[in-house]
Amino acid sequence: MSPATPAPSTALPPYAQWQAERAWPVLRFVYGIGGLIPLLYLLGDWLIEPAAAEVRTLRFVYLGFWALLSWLTFRPGRKLPLALSYPLYTLVGVGFACVIDGKLLGRPEFVLATSLLYLMGLLIAKAPLWLNLACGGITVLVCATMLSWLGLDATAIRRVVFFHGLWAGVVGTAAWVVQRLNRQLYLAERELRQTLAANQHLLAETEKLARTDPLTALPNRRQFFRSGEAALAESRSSGQPLSLLALDVDHFKRINDQGGHQLGDTVLREVAQCCRASLRNTDLAARIGGEEFALLLPATDLAQAQQLAERLRQEIAALQLPAAVTVSIGCAELSAEMGSVDALLARADEALYAAKENGRNRVSSARRSLLTPGH
Ligand code: GH3
Ligand code: MG
Ligand code: MG
Repeated sequence: MSPATPAPSTALPPYAQWQAERAWPVLRFVYGIGGLIPLLYLLGDWLIEPAAAEVRTLRFVYLGFWALLSWLTFRPGRKLPLALSYPLYTLVGVGFACVIDGKLLGRPEFVLATSLLYLMGLLIAKAPLWLNLACGGITVLVCATMLSWLGLDATAIRRVVFFHGLWAGVVGTAAWVVQRLNRQLYLAERELRQTLAANQHLLAETEKLARTDPLTALPNRRQFFRSGEAALAESRSSGQPLSLLALDVDHFKRINDQGGHQLGDTVLREVAQCCRASLRNTDLAARIGGEEFALLLPATDLAQAQQLAERLRQEIAALQLPAAVTVSIGCAELSAEMGSVDALLARADEALYAAKENGRNRVSSARRSLLTPGH
């Protein structure tokens, strides 16, 4: 018997890796937005009102940092770890927002908007909770120190830090909830994949069972006809001969009656083994009925098929079993007027019938009969 089909591998990666795989596409999007916004501002400056040279220069410097960080993070191969890349990104983004919006443009509330963008990015990316908290902490810290360092008035700083802290809390809580849901999703997906793998395995086994005879492990009748039609088409297109042997155990009913069904089954397995052993790679042996077997022999003409049949007959007759076992074999070769494997088998069956009629334990062919004398 061929070994059991191994279960297909559909295992989920560890949770952290699974999560990271989902985070990267979102982070790519968030980094993209982080680069697009200053570009849009530059466009606005150019279309509406030119910004101060200082502001423009800073926007370009920011874009430089942004490009470097994006490249380090997303370049193929060695990626900057998320836990390093994102806090850095937050630091650079919020730092520039503090200088440009907080100090130069006098609109500190924009700093808040920028820092929230970074936090939301993490949240959507389902990054780990600790990373959310770390980035939240960094932005609050950067806002507080930079804005005071830049000399903003205390109320404005307090407002930014207060609202930022509030939002960081909200986003952090949301991240915690998302984390829990994420974990549940992971567990559900894992279970689903396990079920899927088990089902696929079961399906493969069932398909194999549907093709195979359980007693002898040879292909069954259905599979024989399925493979047979392909062999017939191949023979037609290549012009190579195709022969078929129909083999039937002689007086099998008697073997069953005298030695019991178990002996009958042993005989069937031994006969199947002899058939299997006499096959070439391209041949096909199948159990097509109770004690009936068929052997399909591509690139084999009738004379070669008869030789093989005779050898097989002798091997089976020489088996050392509690009962004497002989077989009758009918041979046929595909001819132009046969349209199917069924027709070829019918011809081989006619020859088999003739072999039985003529005393069993012999090989007969569809054209010439009684090639082998029995005993
Ligand atoms: P003949 O030489 O004319 O072929 O005679 P026979 O006795 O071999 O043929 P018959 O068709 O009369 O009997 C076939 C017997 O095979 C009858 C059935 O009980 C037995 N048989 C069919 N399948 C199995 C099986 O899987 N195991 C066993 N032990 N016997 C089986
Ligand atoms: Mg029989
Ligand atoms: Mg029979």
